[in-house]
Amino acid sequence: MTRRAIELLLLVALGAVAGWIRGTEGWTFGGALAGALAWSVIDGLRARRVLHWLNKADPARAPHMHGTWGEVVERSRKAFRKLEKKAANSDARLEDFLAAIQASPNGVVLLDAAGRIEWCNLTAANQLGFDPQRDLGQYIRNLVRHPTFTAYMASGQFQHEIQIDGPGVRPSQPSKILLQIHPYGKKRKLLLSRDVTAVQLAEAMRRDFVANVSHEIRTPLTVLSGFVETLQNIPLEEADRNRYLGLMSQQAQRMQTLVSDLLTLSRLEGSPAPGQGEWIDSGELLEHVVQEARGLSEVIAQPPHDIAALDNASIWVAGVKTELLSAMSNLLSNAVRYTPGGGTIRAHWALRADGSGEFCVADTGPGIAEEHIPRLTERFYRVDRSRSRETGGTGLGLAIVKHVIQRHGGQLEVDSTVGEGTRFMMVLPASRIRVHPRG
Ligand code: ADP
Repeated sequence: MTRRAIELLLLVALGAVAGWIRGTEGWTFGGALAGALAWSVIDGLRARRVLHWLNKADPARAPHMHGTWGEVVERSRKAFRKLEKKAANSDARLEDFLAAIQASPNGVVLLDAAGRIEWCNLTAANQLGFDPQRDLGQYIRNLVRHPTFTAYMASGQFQHEIQIDGPGVRPSQPSKILLQIHPYGKKRKLLLSRDVTAVQLAEAMRRDFVANVSHEIRTPLTVLSGFVETLQNIPLEEADRNRYLGLMSQQAQRMQTLVSDLLTLSRLEGSPAPGQGEWIDSGELLEHVVQEARGLSEVIAQPPHDIAALDNASIWVAGVKTELLSAMSNLLSNAVRYTPGGGTIRAHWALRADGSGEFCVADTGPGIAEEHIPRLTERFYRVDRSRSRETGGTGLGLAIVKHVIQRHGGQLEVDSTVGEGTRFMMVLPASRIRVHPRG
């Protein structure tokens, strides 16, 4: 027999006994009825307590009860605990899921049926220029006010992606954002965004590069084929023929230099940065490039330049010898090529106060106006186009210099005054410089 039935019988019996003591048969029956009534009131109160607790659904504050109600409470408490555990698991899974979407390099926005933002990751907020917290619940059409996007939203045709301008680093340089909407669920929308600014920039640079290379190669090729045609069709005197052949060889040489510079650049870009390399005596490097520059000056300048090396510091440099020689020789040959004949050119290695080392080439040439300086190391950028061509320039020399220096952890500095001259400095970090020879 359950505890509840025993309690009921006890109260009925107690009521009946009390009635019987009172005297009549009617009283006995009435007493039993009152006992049953009292039990149902007590039971009702217990049920109310349980219901009250169930409404609060707090397993930690379960009422302490016995019997059937106690069992109801215990079973409900266990069910609550199970549900709580399940909910905590789902919460954790949702958190992981949202963290994964947050980490995505692409923007993700969830829109409700009316086009209001329900959730978005930080990437989308940055790419589209809104606040991921404050703008929740806002209509996306009010936040992204690009006409292409407005028309896209209004059309309801989302099979293709669209491109709009994003906020970018500054208003004059907006970013390029690709957007596509994917409808899901009950009229909800998933908006995905992708920043393609860098990809488009790289693509534009690639196009420019191909156009520049084609142009650089086409010019000598046109000249060459013109001479070939002349030689084929017109009978020439020996002297003219030799002159033409000389000019043809010059053009062929120009193409060869261009191809060789292009190969050097692609090698520098494609290979990993060199390690410490070998320790090289800077005096030895300097001697080599100065001799080379004097040779070039004798060929192209009238009168030749006054070229001297000032090597007072006993510096050793750690790096790749061929690359360092190529950078130094490019800087010196530029000084020779752009400084009028008879000008002065000085080159030296020196130790700087912070322990870094510099290779400096100073000339008394035409100088370079300030606005050109930031662009000098761009491929094919030339200040003096005709002088560059006349002296066999490819427009790639300083790009090669910049790459070599960057690979060695250093930087290129330029100091120039128009009409007075230019100083190019290749600065290498202290870790690559030693004042005394090793070993
Ligand atoms: P190029 O093959 O045309 O010399 P570079 O990349 O070596 O190409 O140099 C880029 C441009 O910088 C040159 O076309 C020239 O106009 C300018 N320049 C480089 N060095 C000097 C210099 N010492 N004096 C004046 N102008 C220079």
